[in-house]
Amino acid sequence: MYVQRKTISARVGITGIGLHSGIYTRLELHPAPAGSGITFVRSDLDGLRIPALQASTTALDYATTVGRDDVSVGTVEHLLAAIVACGITDLDVHIDGPEVPIIDGSALPFMHLIDAAGSRHLGDKIPVLRITEPIEVSDGDKSIRIAPANRLVIKYRIDFEHPSIGREAFHFDFQQDNFLRKIAPARTFGFMRDVEKLRAAGLARGGTVENCIVLDDNGVLNGPLRFKDEFVRHKILDLVGDLALIGRPVIGEITANRAGHALHSRFVEKILRASEAEAAAAPASRRRAAESFA
Ligand SMILES: [Zn+2]
Repeated sequence: MYVQRKTISARVGITGIGLHSGIYTRLELHPAPAGSGITFVRSDLDGLRIPALQASTTALDYATTVGRDDVSVGTVEHLLAAIVACGITDLDVHIDGPEVPIIDGSALPFMHLIDAAGSRHLGDKIPVLRITEPIEVSDGDKSIRIAPANRLVIKYRIDFEHPSIGREAFHFDFQQDNFLRKIAPARTFGFMRDVEKLRAAGLARGGTVENCIVLDDNGVLNGPLRFKDEFVRHKILDLVGDLALIGRPVIGEITANRAGHALHSRFVEKILRASEAEAAAAPASRRRAAESFA
């Protein structure tokens, strides 16, 4: 199974502060040729190229970073979610600093940016990674699993001991549901009680009530929420961004419980290992036909 490769039609850009670094960067999306994939280009460092692939990734619980040698680009997940949700397979993301601007904490501004650029088919196809056996990773009471299905579905559950969150569950079907309307606007969130610890660790330095949902022990400080279950919707957004690091579309039914970027990352790694093992085990005659692991 294959889908059409797609890039954008024109260059577009946006400027803003990084959630964790507090550094302002200029981000520009440029069309890219078929087969190049999604690549971060550090325009401030002689155009050093970092592919948006799992092999270049380090994930903390708070954000996902891609890097090469000592150079990195942080908080890539919301932008990557927007890129793949728009069906873009090949794109150069020029950035003049170490972190993608957080803008409003969601993927919506990036989807609008891609929409403004327009998109075009590249006359080439990309194989879809179709899951044939269940794959699961877990860590205590956190888990994430994918099982074979004929389309991508994500079922996510969270459980935070907090009066404004508690238990939330959301089911998103990529064939039937509208990502732009249901998932893209969901914003990132953070707890006041973690701020000091995060800042001491060099994180959350750009976080404000303008770019994330801030919670104290009693409730949301900067309401209203965009959805009553905005938190779990944002977890789906994060997962879609982290899945983009597979480097091609994936099809299966995903069930996630209380996961985060670190577990998402282990999950993506396990999917890639399973896909490589399956490709190696396939007879050569079948391998060519089923290059897609389909
Ligand atoms: Zn996020």
